[in-house]
Amino acid sequence: MKLVILDRDGVINEDSDEYIKSPAEWRPLRGSLEAIARLHQAGWHVVVATNQSGIARKLFDLDTLARIHETMHRQVRNSGGQIDAVFFCPHGPDDHCSCRKPAPGMLNDIARRLHIELNGVPAIGDSLRDIQAARAAGASPILVKTGKGSRVVLDPDLDSTVPVFNDLYSAVDSLLKGA
Ligand SMILES: [Mg+2]
Ligand SMILES: [Zn+2]
Repeated sequence: MKLVILDRDGVINEDSDEYIKSPAEWRPLRGSLEAIARLHQAGWHVVVATNQSGIARKLFDLDTLARIHETMHRQVRNSGGQIDAVFFCPHGPDDHCSCRKPAPGMLNDIARRLHIELNGVPAIGDSLRDIQAARAAGASPILVKTGKGSRVVLDPDLDSTVPVFNDLYSAVDSLLKGA
C-alpha cells in the first residue's frame, strides 16, 4: 500500500495565525488540490494528520471542524482527488496528550488503523513539529516551504537530511517520479 501522510494547515490550505475557524476560512494553497488528485490517480492513499488546538482554545467546536473537513473533502473530490481519512488532535499544548505533534500519536494511530509500518512512508509538513513527529513515528519527513515552512528551513534544529520542496505540488511531483 502506497501511503502519504499530510499535515493540513500550511500544506494543503493557507495557514493562519488566527486559526482556521470556519469552512469559509479553509482556502487551498495553489496546486495542492491537483497534487492530491495526482497522488490518488497514481494509486496512493492520502491521510491527513493535523493539530487542531483551536478546539482546546474554544475558538471552534468539533461540529465546525467536521464542516471544515467536509469543505476540504468536497474541494479535493471536485479536483479528482481523495483524502482517505483525517486524524486530528483537539488538545492544547498544556494537555500533554500523546497525539499533538511533535508527539507521534496520530501517526502511530494511522499505522495501527491501516495495519502498515510507517517505515519509508512520506509525511509532508510545514513545521518542525511535523518533521519531529514523522521521525518519532519512523516515517520519512518532507518539509514544504509553504505555511510556516519558509521560516523552518532556516531553523538550526531542522535536520539537514530532510528533503525540502517549495510546495505540496513539487513534493508530490518528486514522490511520483521516484516511486
Ligand atoms: Mg502546518
Ligand atoms: Zn492530542
